[in-house]
Amino acid sequence: MKYCFAYIFIFFTFLIECYAQSSLEAHIHGEAKLNIVFEGPELLIELKSPSYNLVGFEHAPKTKNQLELVENTISLLKNFKNVADTSSEANCKIADASVSTSMRGIHEDEHHEDEHHEDEHHEDEHQHSAKEIHSEFSATYSLRCDKPENLKSIQLELFSTFELMEEIAVQMIIQGKQGFAELNPDNPNLKL
Ligand SMILES: [Zn+2]
Repeated sequence: MKYCFAYIFIFFTFLIECYAQSSLEAHIHGEAKLNIVFEGPELLIELKSPSYNLVGFEHAPKTKNQLELVENTISLLKNFKNVADTSSEANCKIADASVSTSMRGIHEDEHHEDEHHEDEHHEDEHQHSAKEIHSEFSATYSLRCDKPENLKSIQLELFSTFELMEEIAVQMIIQGKQGFAELNPDNPNLKL
C-alpha cells in the first residue's frame, strides 16, 4: 500500500510540475490551484497561489510591514486549520506541512535564480513582461485519517483566511478516481 501510494504521489508530482510550467504564464490574480490525492488513509493537499491572493503584492517586501505580512502569511499557511477543515468523523490528523514562496528576499526560496530587474533584457520575457514582477506561494500538507471512509468533504477555509482569494481550481485523485472542482467564497465546500 505504501509503495502504491508513493507511486501515485510521484506521478502526481510529475503532473503538477507540468502544470506549474504551463501555469507560469497563466497565473491569474485571485485564482489559486489545489491538488489533492487521497489514497487509503493518506491525504495529500498542495496549494499553489499567486502571492497577490495572500499578501496583496508579488514583489519582494520593501517595508517592515510588508515583510511582517509575508512572514505572518507563511505562519498562517503552516497551520492547516487556516486552509481547510476535514469532516471530523474521518479523524484526519496533520502529519506534515511545508510552505515555500518564489517571492524575492524571502528565506524560503533563496536558491531561486529568477531575476526580474526592470531593465532586464530578453531572457525573461517568455515568462513575464519585464515590468511585472510575479511570485507564488506553495504549501503542501500531508494528513493521515483514522477513518478514511468517513471523509466525504473538505471545507476550504482559505477564502475566509485570505480575502483576496476569489477562486480555487481543484484537481483531485480520490481513492483512485480523478475529479475536478471549482470553489469560491460562496461555495467553499469540496465534495469528495
Ligand atoms: Zn502575479
